[in-house]
Amino acid sequence: MDISSKSFRPAERIADLGVSEILAITARAAALKREGRPVIILGAGEPDFDTPDHIKEAAIAAIREGQTKYTVLDGSPAMKRAIRDKFRRENGLEFRVDEVTAAAGAKQILYNAMMASLNEGDEVIIPTPCWTSYFDIVRIAGGVPVAVPCDDSTGFRLTADALDAAITPRTRWLLLNSPSNPTGSAYGENDYRPLIEVLNRNPHVWLMVDDMYEHILYDGFRFVTPAALDTGLRNRCLTVNGVSKAYAMTGWRLGYAGGPAPLIAGMAVVQSQSTSCPSSVTQAAAIAALDGPQDFLAERTASFAARRDLVVDALNAIDGITCRKPEGAFYAFASCEGLIGRATSQGRRLDSDRDFCAWLLEAADVAVVPGACFGLSGYFRISYATSEQELREALARTAKACAALMHQTEN
Ligand code: PMP
Repeated sequence: MDISSKSFRPAERIADLGVSEILAITARAAALKREGRPVIILGAGEPDFDTPDHIKEAAIAAIREGQTKYTVLDGSPAMKRAIRDKFRRENGLEFRVDEVTAAAGAKQILYNAMMASLNEGDEVIIPTPCWTSYFDIVRIAGGVPVAVPCDDSTGFRLTADALDAAITPRTRWLLLNSPSNPTGSAYGENDYRPLIEVLNRNPHVWLMVDDMYEHILYDGFRFVTPAALDTGLRNRCLTVNGVSKAYAMTGWRLGYAGGPAPLIAGMAVVQSQSTSCPSSVTQAAAIAALDGPQDFLAERTASFAARRDLVVDALNAIDGITCRKPEGAFYAFASCEGLIGRATSQGRRLDSDRDFCAWLLEAADVAVVPGACFGLSGYFRISYATSEQELREALARTAKACAALMHQTEN
């Protein structure tokens, strides 16, 4: 969508930004589907499970009981208690209720935090590949995103040396995400420790961690969040989380965070002039999610793990594609370098991952997202939060199309 026109002059802060490319790709795939093509969309970043019944029931009860008014701006007292208890129970983090906050999604939490803390030109270090929104949220807030490229050789994880080299006097935040969207890589205690050491030598740099995929981890990988590893970090770390992915609640819109009270208060100032409180009904549902039974999480994660294995094995069996086995989340981030430079049956050369993804949609009716959207070209992201049957079909089509591509060029 073009935001400029003769009659509308956009603000400079958004003039160079567009709506998410992932949404654009998904829209294109959906349009083809409407035309009757058997398109399989592996682009979406949301679980295919439904919200559990006990969570829905809590929302219905809240409506019946008249919990339909504004609540406290950044979360009702009950919501804040549930967030505080969650951090204590699952992460070993002790927060007072004025050190936690709730908003309409983790995205709004990140937005509030950047708006509340960045001045024009302040730098935010972001290891790439990363979730597409980080860069534009920082830009809208007047900051400068500083990409630190990470590759397969470190499991797409940031190293202490790379962090050290990226820090300047203008650095305000380091933003980390584990498990990661788009790579599925996770940081364990041994990965965090050297980074924390660098942060301790640079007390002007604060740490924002996006723990959104905390509950989707495989093979016994132990989740840990940095604020729990170093008490010294506690007064300059914002721990961000939300109910969207763990509880299949993407449409309900509830994210939360814990951090130093002055930052939390600043975030409330931003939120007070944008959305006010998150939906009262959603808060009732989110309290039920955080306080309620957690046993279904393991079942769902086991199902994701089976799909991960299916997808990663099938991708690695394709000539020209390689894929690292991710520790968590529901994404596979695969290299298509081996297919770049090949010619399609129409004689078109695939010059980039964007070309590859556009071609895959045309040739195989499979929609995936180019790595360039996440800051690393030569790769593509598959979301495997879809049925095994669809995944098998999509991968069979991908394998067939890629084999033809290899064959085409050799002839
Ligand atoms: N962080 C990451 C890494 C994500 O992938 C997403 C959703 N795609 C979010 C945050 C935002 O989640 P929410 O629905 O809570 O806004």
